[in-house]
Formats: sequence, C-alpha cells, structure tokens
Amino acid sequence: MKVLSTNRPSLVRYSPLCAKRASNEPIMHSPNPQPSRPSHQQPVASTPPTRRGPGGPSGHGHGAGGSGGSRSDGGDFGSQGGGQGGGGGNDGGFRGKKSTTCSFCGKTSREVGAMVEGPGDVYICSNCTDLCQNIFKQEKRRVAAARPLFATIPSPRQVKEFLDQYVIGQDAAKRALAVAVHNHYKRLTVVEGDDNSIELDKSNVMLIGPTGTGKTLLAKTLARILNVPFAIGDATTLTEAGYVGEDVENLLLKLLQAADYDLENAQRGIIYIDEIDKIGKTSQNVSITRDVSGEGVQQSLLKMLEGTVANVPPQGGRKHPEQQYIQLDTTNILFICGGSFVGLDDIIRKRIGKRRIGFGSDIHENKPKEENLRSVLAQVLPEDVLEFGMIPELVGRLPIITPLMPLDRAAMISILTEPKNAIVRQYQYLFSIEGARLEFTTDGLELIADRALTRDTGARALRAVIDEIMVPHMYHLPDLDNHDAVYTMDAAAIERKTPLAQLLRRVSKESA
Ligand code: ADP
Repeated sequence: MKVLSTNRPSLVRYSPLCAKRASNEPIMHSPNPQPSRPSHQQPVASTPPTRRGPGGPSGHGHGAGGSGGSRSDGGDFGSQGGGQGGGGGNDGGFRGKKSTTCSFCGKTSREVGAMVEGPGDVYICSNCTDLCQNIFKQEKRRVAAARPLFATIPSPRQVKEFLDQYVIGQDAAKRALAVAVHNHYKRLTVVEGDDNSIELDKSNVMLIGPTGTGKTLLAKTLARILNVPFAIGDATTLTEAGYVGEDVENLLLKLLQAADYDLENAQRGIIYIDEIDKIGKTSQNVSITRDVSGEGVQQSLLKMLEGTVANVPPQGGRKHPEQQYIQLDTTNILFICGGSFVGLDDIIRKRIGKRRIGFGSDIHENKPKEENLRSVLAQVLPEDVLEFGMIPELVGRLPIITPLMPLDRAAMISILTEPKNAIVRQYQYLFSIEGARLEFTTDGLELIADRALTRDTGARALRAVIDEIMVPHMYHLPDLDNHDAVYTMDAAAIERKTPLAQLLRRVSKESA
C-alpha cells in the first residue's frame, strides 16, 4: 500500500499525540513533506502479525508491497503469520512475531493491534487511519462549506423578506435579527479574510416578548435561509456544574450535531437559547437552597457568549474528569436569546412612571390592554432586563434587545391565513386531498381568533382552537360524497357545531 505518494501536493501531518485526542478532533498541518516518525521506532520480533499493504491478499503487492519485499526484517516469520495475508510474492503475507511501531502515533502493535505497512519502514495503525479519514473528511467539508457561504451574503432586506413569508408582524424584531445575521456573515468574511484591521464585535440578540408571539418561530425560520449550522436550546434545563441538570456546553453540542460534527462549520453557527428569562437571579427567592439554575448558569453562559474555547463532551450530559472533549471556539458563534420576561412590563412602567409622570407618555388608561403593553414593551432598555434579574455582564453581551409585540385579533387572523404554512391552508389542503373545498368566512376566523386570545398563550392557542373545531369534521370527511363539495365554516356553524354534512354545498368546478 502506498501510504505516502512521492509526488504528493500537500501532506497532512499530525502529531504523535494525536492518539490521545478525541478521534473527532483532528488537527491540520500543511504542507509538510515529512511524516513525523518517532525516533524510538525499532521494529522487533513479536506478535501480533503485521499485515502488508492491501496488495498482500491479492497476491501481488503493488507499490508498497513490492518495495517492502526488498526488506529483510522478520522474513523468517512469513509462514507463521496466520495466512490471512495470502502469499503475495516472496515477501507478501504476514510477518508474524514482529512488533512494529506506528510511524504516526508511536504506539506498538502490542498496544494497538495490526498495522498496515508502507514502503521504507513506515507503519500505520487503525487508530491513525481513522483519524486520517476524519481529517480528510473535515477538510473536504470545510472547502465545500466555505464556498457557498461567502458567495452571497443575504442583505438585511432579503432576510426580512424571507421572514415575512412565515412570521406575521414583529417588524422591529425581524429588522434587528436581519441586521444581526447580515453582520454575522460579514464578520465571518472579515475573520476569514486577511484584513483584520478592524475587529467587528458580535451582535448577539435578545428577543423579549410574551409567549406565543413568534420568538422561536423567528429563530427557526432564520435557520432555513442560513448557510451556517443552527441549533435551538433551552435555558431551563441548564444548571450550575455539579447539580442535576445540563451543562451549558450541551448547547454547543447541539450545534456540533447540527453541523454534523464539522468543527469548523459549527464554530461559525448560530444558537438560539429559549427561555433565557428563566435563569434570572432568584432575588425574591425565599428558599434557602442555592440558586443553582440562576446566576451561576448566567456566568457560564457569559463565557460562551463572549467567546471561549469550550470543552464539549461528545456524548452530552454532565462533564466528568475522565471524559474526552471536543474543543470548540465560540468566538464566531452568534447567540440569539429569547424569553417571555413575565413582569418586565411592570418594571418598564415603574421606570417610565418615575421619569415622566403622565405627560408625553403613550400609555393611557383608556387604550386597550394590548396596545398599552405594546407601547410599554417598545421602550424596553437593558436596565429593565437587569432589574428583572439578569446579570449586567450577560446583558452587556446581548447588545441588541428587541421586543416582540403581543398579537391582536387582526394579527391572529393573519397568522391563521397568510403564512406559507398557515393552519387554514393546511386544513384546506387536507380537504382538497379528499376532493373538497374548505372555506372560512371572516366572522368564522374572527371567532377562532377571539377564542385563542382568551387563552393567553398567543398564537400558540390558534392550533388548539382550530383543531377542536376541525377534528370532528375530519373524522366524517372521507365518508361523504365530496364531488364538487364546498364546506363553509362561518361563526354560526362553529358556535353550533353544525355537522359537516349540513355544511355541504355543491358547486361545479366550472362555475366556481
Ligand atoms: P414563542 O414566542 O413562545 O417562542 P413560538 O414562536 O413558539 O412562540 O410560537 C408558537 C406558534 O405560534 C408558532 O409555531 C406559530 O405557529 C405561531 N406563531 C406565533 N407567532 C407568530 C407570528 N408572529 N407569525 C406567525 N405565526 C406565529
């Protein structure tokens, strides 16, 4: 086997220590024409046998097999080798009772088992071949991934337009995210390029808004257009080291998994951390127990957000001393944090109230509750988030704080009908598969929106409300004659739970 070709364009070399590293933590040195070879490499007779290159079994060692033939070491063991090697040439097959040393990691065949031999006393063990494979795989992926990423940087307008297709309203948040993502790409370009005269800071984003207003949806939708790996994690599961729960590094593991364990790619990905408000300092905590999921977690997140080389346990779970880690640099990872921050509006109100007592304020008693909440949330400042219980250092690492607005009835109706995968469209599609048409009247949609609003879980309630209405109908739909059938859902039909058969109208396709 030709382990190293003489006219190689560039050689991937790695240190003899490599065997001690995690197998998925390859390192690159290039180009270097000489493989590292430990000075102590002295083949001596021993078991287990060493296999001559792949040429061996075929009986005609090509390349390495042939050149190996000129060597005389251990020739007398040829017949004791166990036979798997075949009798390739005079010197082919196994040369038993010879202990060889891997030219790459320096381990002996006693330690690591069979090795493959190349020309001129070169050996490689299976661990090192695995590692080589990983290095080549990673290099290939790096080259492939780098190309499209920097070919086009989506403009903030493009990002926002894409978000518009799936997320209703929330313009401020969309713009903030679009700019953050765009800058993230730019920052990566600068990092990759030679010009490092000005360092661009990371613009991590904090999304603040009531539950069900689209924080996760925004992050998920963003993932669709991004050419970088994206992971969603939850801050509630995180606890301080040493306590039941997860380490913050598990968030990085998710990113690594999303990047298919491609370290380079993961290191420029995006992580969305949901429920960030749940790790606020428990200042009002009356319990005498430690605040294991509060400030301590914020401290560990802080390091990650500002950029550190984190030790990520490849199997997840808690870290422990004997474990092997993958070292992941978080400097170029963009973090988006989201939280509902229940009670934050009161903190903002208190602050605003202190500064301008009534005058010039957009907050009025006679305005609807939602509208007031909007105007309050729109005035969020980092100091309010601090007051809520986030530590100043963490808030400092999240320079863009953007509120998501509570959804009103009109927004709810738009969510029902407008996005590409809107719930109403999904039901209409299900009906069309049965050959029928489904229509919702405006008052029908308003009723659904109103019912959802009463549940106080934002747009999340829409799915539940519409499912309650539609599931009984879906049960009967396939049993009906759906030829030219049109079913119209209006408020009355929803209120009275009119059976589907009674909603049926026949409209021929031509007249429709
Ligand atoms: P949260 O803000 O609590 O993270 P989600 O983003 O998970 O809320 O929203 C829950 C569901 O509600 C989404 O899957 C989506 O269907 C719907 N939804 C919420 N907000 C919007 C929005 N602005 N536009 C479209 N759909 C939305």
